[in-house]
Amino acid sequence: MSDKKKIILTGDRPTGKLHVGHYVGSLRRRVELQNSGEFDEIFIMIADAQALTDNARDPQKIRDSLLNVTLDYLSAGIDPAKSHILIQSMIPALPELTAYYMNLVTVQRVGRNPTVKSEIKMRGFSEGEADNEEGTPVGFFCYPISQAADITAFDATVVPVGEDQEPMLEQTREIVRKFNSIYGETLVLPDILLPGNLASRRLPGTDGKAKMSKSLGNCIYLSDDEAAVSAAVKTMFTDPTHLKVTDPGHTEDNPVFIYLEAFAGEDNKDASALFAEYAPDYKDLNEMEEHYRRGGLGDVKVKKFLDKVLQETLSPIRKRRAEYEKDIPAVYEILKEGTAYAAETAANTLSRVKRVMGIDYFRGM
Ligand code: ATP
Ligand code: MG
Repeated sequence: MSDKKKIILTGDRPTGKLHVGHYVGSLRRRVELQNSGEFDEIFIMIADAQALTDNARDPQKIRDSLLNVTLDYLSAGIDPAKSHILIQSMIPALPELTAYYMNLVTVQRVGRNPTVKSEIKMRGFSEGEADNEEGTPVGFFCYPISQAADITAFDATVVPVGEDQEPMLEQTREIVRKFNSIYGETLVLPDILLPGNLASRRLPGTDGKAKMSKSLGNCIYLSDDEAAVSAAVKTMFTDPTHLKVTDPGHTEDNPVFIYLEAFAGEDNKDASALFAEYAPDYKDLNEMEEHYRRGGLGDVKVKKFLDKVLQETLSPIRKRRAEYEKDIPAVYEILKEGTAYAAETAANTLSRVKRVMGIDYFRGM
């Protein structure tokens, strides 16, 4: 067992292009960790099988999104020389591990998972009692268990994700403990790694709704051009009580300031440079927020700053994307290599699991 190694597993569902919520919630951190050189291995999974659990009728969307998400990764700075990008459905050990883990989890336990509950609600899966109602697909209901397979297959020690993934990590840890207590120390217990600031753990949508989400259409995408980003910022919600520039304003629950916390807040290493260049009247976000709360700072001015901050973040990403887009076969080659390597790693874990479970009947024959 390779539990002394430091290994990252994380990923995304290919249900669309990645947005800036994914970026601050997980992707930005992955790139930092990748470049820190502190990790022995980094696996980044495109969770197409999981995406199919609630998109079975729309496989074309998943297929199309696969390339988009890969380009999003590469343009955000994921380096295929340092990180393995893999396609979930092409790793046969994963559904096999899932099948064994399913016996260690109760239907009641999954039903209590707060993320599963809210996602079932958000997707409009009702009880499925009336003839015209669509219930929850069994595959969807079980995805927390398949996520445990994803994480443990690579012996991941660290999983950098947004806040909505907390209950999933807890579920994985329970499965690991249960498995190890029954069959002996086999699986590695992973830790969640959440973003340092609250804004980044769950970035709201441009409409002020709780979460920026592909399914809610309130996103700024990593692949949006300059004009699209500016347009989205212009129409963003702010403080509805801040009518005149001189009125005192609220910064909490104000999406514009929440975005500024995520992109130009204290934890951001480029924050002081961004203020020096685009808002030199303020040393940092605290000073700008104080002015807004006092009154005298208009929304237009704050939005102009946010626009600059976002463009500054996205512009190197756009440049890298343009480079990768020139050679799409090379991008598929990256996926092929990452997937082949990951398949081998996961197969080794599966062998270990079957051995301790005593279902490796032909061992040594
Ligand atoms: P879907 O609507 O298909 O579920 P999604 O937008 O929720 O898509 P996922 O692929 O489920 O995206 O999530 C990928 C990763 O991005 C997870 O680590 C998740 O925590 C993080 N994430 C997603 N949305 C946000 C957000 N608004 N703020 C911060 N992190 C987010
Ligand atoms: Mg999601």
